[in-house]
Amino acid sequence: MLTPEADGMPPRDPSGRIPVARPSLPRAETLVPYLRRIDETRIYSNHGPLVDLFEARIAERLGLGKHAVLSCNSGTMALVAAIRAERNLSGHRGRLCLLPAYTFVATAGAAQSCGYDCHLLDIAPDTWAVEPAALRHHPRLSEVGLVLPVAPYGRMIDLQGWQEFHDKTGIPVVIDAAACLDRLMHPGTVLPRSIPLAVSLHATKSFGCGEGGLVLSRDTGLLREAYKVLNNGFLGSREAQTAGLNGKMSEYAAAVALAELDGFARKSAQWTKVAVAYADAGRETEVTLWTAPQISGCYALVEAANAGHAAAMKARLVAAGIDFRNWYGGGLSAHPAYARLSHDPLPVSADVAARIIGLPCFTDLAKADIGRIVACLSPPLAAQMQASRS
Ligand SMILES: *Cc1c(COP(=O)(O)O)cnc(C)c1O
Repeated sequence: MLTPEADGMPPRDPSGRIPVARPSLPRAETLVPYLRRIDETRIYSNHGPLVDLFEARIAERLGLGKHAVLSCNSGTMALVAAIRAERNLSGHRGRLCLLPAYTFVATAGAAQSCGYDCHLLDIAPDTWAVEPAALRHHPRLSEVGLVLPVAPYGRMIDLQGWQEFHDKTGIPVVIDAAACLDRLMHPGTVLPRSIPLAVSLHATKSFGCGEGGLVLSRDTGLLREAYKVLNNGFLGSREAQTAGLNGKMSEYAAAVALAELDGFARKSAQWTKVAVAYADAGRETEVTLWTAPQISGCYALVEAANAGHAAAMKARLVAAGIDFRNWYGGGLSAHPAYARLSHDPLPVSADVAARIIGLPCFTDLAKADIGRIVACLSPPLAAQMQASRS
């Protein structure tokens, strides 16, 4: 086994501070063969051979047809492309977008940039997601032109339920599956018949290329439309067939993505090792930990019993020099940019946002460090006693 330094990783922080994320993407030498191909072809952009190869290889890896995968330059752009393609093809003119309050800000940003007014929904306590059946009788359903369900932290949601919702209501649905790629690589997940998924290849996700994204759909007509949206409206000619923008993945990003795919069996094993170490350490405590495969490998979450318990755990993490992150903040309505959005009552989102803490999670996080982290996560009772003493 190489030491982190010999493996080319930056040396560990000598103060012993543990960062929340420390992404690790393919090293330069693994990129060189792909970069040489770019030198030879002198194709740098516009769905070149490396982008083509990456899409084909990912499709194969996911057990999908080649035309079920479309690359783009971020997960946010994948959402935008899928939203616009759905709208173009459905002809639906509803201006309201329903989305969960508990998500990363990009979900709302993507909908707003496509011209929708957003209305925030509460999540279900046991899935942290919006359930399709709960929406069928929403009082504002007649205004709704788009629903954006989110798979939080890559936790799988009811994909077929959303397909049925779409089939019964005719309302366009786009799934924010930004953190789901590792989960989708496991056999057994069946993509919905037509509704698209948007995936992120951001460096902090389990499979990354720096900045990048994918639109996945078994509906090839929908992906053709998304292709146009991301290609200034062009498809096969220089005439814009739809209002588009440039969201394409470059050949350089595809080089990184291909190298990431080459090494992903190893990286995936590293994610698993970290998840198992967390789960093992967690079993010896009374705290609830969430790790892969329930969520994406790039996250390790602790679920506190209540807000007071969460505060006590955070204080101990801070004192121990361990970084943590509330990846979704306090939910969308807690961000100034989205504080004025209309919303349903959001008690569950607020409660979950206050109780879920993102712990350090990266491929070379040492088992000893995981032990140190979990040791800071006092059980609820101890936290209460500590609070009543001070
Ligand atoms: C990462 C993420 C995004 C955004 O993806 P980018 O590639 O950073 O644009 C959107 N939604 C969720 C839930 C995410 O986790």
